[in-house]
Amino acid sequence: MQCLAFASRIHPQETNVRSLIQLLMRGSMAALVASNVACAQVPAANTKPNIVIVATGGTIAGAGATSANSATYQAAKVPVDKLIAGIPELNNVANVRGEQAFQIASESFTNEKLLQLGKRVSALVKDPGVDGVVITHGTDTLEETSFFLNLVVHTDKPIVVVGSMRPGTAMSADGMLNLYNAVVLAGAKSARGKGVLVAMNDDILTGRDAAKRTNIKTNAFASGWGALGMVVEGQAYWFRAPVKRHTMKSEFDIDTLTSLPEVVIVYGSGNMTPELYDAAVKSGAKAIINAGTGNGSVPNYLVDTLKRVRAGGVHVVRSSRIADGFVIRNSEQPDDQYDWVVAHDLNPQKAKILAALALTKSNSTAELQRMFWEY
Ligand code: ASP
Repeated sequence: MQCLAFASRIHPQETNVRSLIQLLMRGSMAALVASNVACAQVPAANTKPNIVIVATGGTIAGAGATSANSATYQAAKVPVDKLIAGIPELNNVANVRGEQAFQIASESFTNEKLLQLGKRVSALVKDPGVDGVVITHGTDTLEETSFFLNLVVHTDKPIVVVGSMRPGTAMSADGMLNLYNAVVLAGAKSARGKGVLVAMNDDILTGRDAAKRTNIKTNAFASGWGALGMVVEGQAYWFRAPVKRHTMKSEFDIDTLTSLPEVVIVYGSGNMTPELYDAAVKSGAKAIINAGTGNGSVPNYLVDTLKRVRAGGVHVVRSSRIADGFVIRNSEQPDDQYDWVVAHDLNPQKAKILAALALTKSNSTAELQRMFWEY
């Protein structure tokens, strides 16, 4: 660095006798000689962070038939090494290596895959030679995976989940810059201790509440509470920080998890049928996330069904089908009286992840509710 800085002060035209004499007169010759000796003897230190990209598939690894195919393509086609080779600029910001965990579209993620991915990420962040981890992921269930990892991996090293809305073969593909930004973020000291992050469309979001809000368009991800910051030209800029428990401060630990209980979401609408809840119970669900209308509302003709579900030992978690806002306990329904839980601001799919993890710790409604307040 010093060699470079010094050398850059000497314009090529200055390397003539007159310039050298001037340098000597300024007392710089000793510094020049010392600097050159130092440059010759000490190889430049590689201070770039070591980042592992764990690839799982998705559109960011997708390929379409023509460059006009921005929405019709096959996800999960391009191997991670090819993705990395396609962005030589990554070498300017990090020492990057790739691992292919899966090659799937994210709608096909299962609990088993979540556990497998979590365990691999946990092993990577324990390696002192790894400074940060990036996970390339399909955007459909990116919000589930990022929240799950945020809850179960104990580390302060940055873990960044990234996807793209267009395959790399499309015009104005967004994957290259998203991945570059994710690597920058994973290597940033300022990203440490902030939990699992999502890098999409220049935004930095927390994996806790980042959610896919629109499809097709490249500004697909947002949080009701706003972005934490942005990555611009290889630099992370921060404006907020997460306050909920995550990673280091979480009571869930991927290293001790072997399975997750079944949790089912029932989507609220007008004119519902009780059979949906009965089917969920029959399928072995240990909790039902009620994606209710408005403030997690339950139709008057279904209250008895949900009371019966709870009496049978299955937890009822009131969430909302509304993207923003939060469900207020004992408003709309007397949750204390019915022994139900409210999902706070978590959307139904995030509530499903937390309910599953919470049930690995406790079957008590009070404990579940505590976890929904804290995470
Ligand atoms: N269906 C794709 C997936 O989630 C969509 C995407 O990646 O954008 O894998």
